[in-house]
Amino acid sequence: MNSLGIKTNRAPDYGDNTGIGNTSTAVEHDNGKRSYSINYLKTASSNLRVLTGARVTKINFSQPDDDGRRTALSIDLIHRSVPYTIMARREVILSAGTYNSPQVLERSGIGNPRVLEPLGIEPIIPNVGVGENLQDHLYVPTDYVVNKGVFTLGTSSDNVRALELTLIPSMLSDKLRIDKEYTDEQAELYESSGKGAFTATISACGFLPLDRVVPKNELVQLKEDLDKELKATEGQLEQTDLQKAQYKIQRDFLERDDVGHVEILLHPKVFVSKPEDNTSYVALIAGIMHPFSRGSVHISSKDAFSTPIIDSGYLNSAFDAKCLAKTLTFLRKLADTEPLKSITKPSTPSADIQTEEQWDRYARNNARTLQHPIGTVAMAPKQLGGVVDSNLLVYGTTNLRVADMSVAPLHISCHTAHTAYAIGEKAHELISRGGDF
Ligand SMILES: Cc1cc2nc3c(=O)[nH]c(=O)nc-3n(C[C@H](O)[C@H](O)[C@H](O)COP(=O)(O)OP(=O)(O)OC[C@H]3O[C@@H](n4cnc5c(N)ncnc54)[C@H](O)[C@@H]3O)c2cc1C
Repeated sequence: MNSLGIKTNRAPDYGDNTGIGNTSTAVEHDNGKRSYSINYLKTASSNLRVLTGARVTKINFSQPDDDGRRTALSIDLIHRSVPYTIMARREVILSAGTYNSPQVLERSGIGNPRVLEPLGIEPIIPNVGVGENLQDHLYVPTDYVVNKGVFTLGTSSDNVRALELTLIPSMLSDKLRIDKEYTDEQAELYESSGKGAFTATISACGFLPLDRVVPKNELVQLKEDLDKELKATEGQLEQTDLQKAQYKIQRDFLERDDVGHVEILLHPKVFVSKPEDNTSYVALIAGIMHPFSRGSVHISSKDAFSTPIIDSGYLNSAFDAKCLAKTLTFLRKLADTEPLKSITKPSTPSADIQTEEQWDRYARNNARTLQHPIGTVAMAPKQLGGVVDSNLLVYGTTNLRVADMSVAPLHISCHTAHTAYAIGEKAHELISRGGDF
């Protein structure tokens, strides 16, 4: 990466995460073990009760007050097939995540009447924004074979899971997949000291503005195409007021030096290829951080155990697809640059793939989610289609807050776990202070 003019960033958590560095991971430094959100329970006060395996089906509200706002009075849940109602003393905090929080709202009568009424749900707080504005990070892996004599490990997430499952070889990558003696030795080392290959994580990760990966003349054309695309959809039903406001911000991001539009990852494992015996792989991965595509999630029935209708909206925007294709072209150039050039050769796709059209087709066939969905209960002004205000309060209610990634209105140029924790901590601070920032 440095050979291609991309700087190393040794402190990506301090305001500017562009460049190439190590991605943050939830691993304890002193013992190499994964760290969990469950660690927060150690700091909780004694009035916390946790009920696992329960599904919240609905929030129940009062009649509207003089301002037309409703108060959440209780929640319905099902635990081991038994229905319960839990009364709220002050507030209800919903944290069911991007796919589930909007579903709980819709089953409680908060949402688009056109979604709720056909399902027999009275829209007590109509809001067309609920379940809309879904954004996700899409990524495309490319695999490279590593020369004999150089080995890669695979990543901790796969390996630790494999350990729990008493080492299922197909779940392991490369050295840990193919060398049983080494794997047993490393497993023992990990169990006894929390050290060794099983603590390995993704090797390198970079968040890059487009001008780092797209040649100057192509970038001018790319932006012109985007402007045309945005103009063409403006005024049509699918470009909501919220999207219009967001697209202005996203367009500005593209002119900034400190906002990564794409992510590239070097991952020591095989993704797409069928791994061959005694062969090590490394994957070069392209991801898109600020997609212009939008999707949605809505309930399909009143039944809280039914599956929702998810329209991911992936690559609805031609610009998103072009950015992926251009980043994949850049990654091929990276693989063709030292030091990777001497130790890798293309596996999937093969070296034959050259043109942007070919990369576009490859991207469309191999894109997958980085599992970073956001935005379906967006924090934004109500008139733009927002669902919560800046105090996380659901519009039209006096005491229902949402605290999870669904409130993030616009995608972020990084992985989402830290931001999920930050939203939780902000919500805690907000509520302890009495509910207003
Ligand atoms: C496979 C995977 C790998 C990931 N890897 C990374 C990574 O390496 N780095 C990173 O930064 N981010 C990663 N992420 C993303 C990160 O985990 C999420 O952004 C984050 O967990 C979102 O937090 P959340 O609170 O919004 O939702 P969630 O963590 O999804 O929490 C929602 C909770 O609500 C519960 N729930 C849902 N509906 C109901 C209901 N009706 N009743 C009761 N409970 C309910 C769910 O069971 C869940 O426990 C990954 C995500 C996945 C899925």
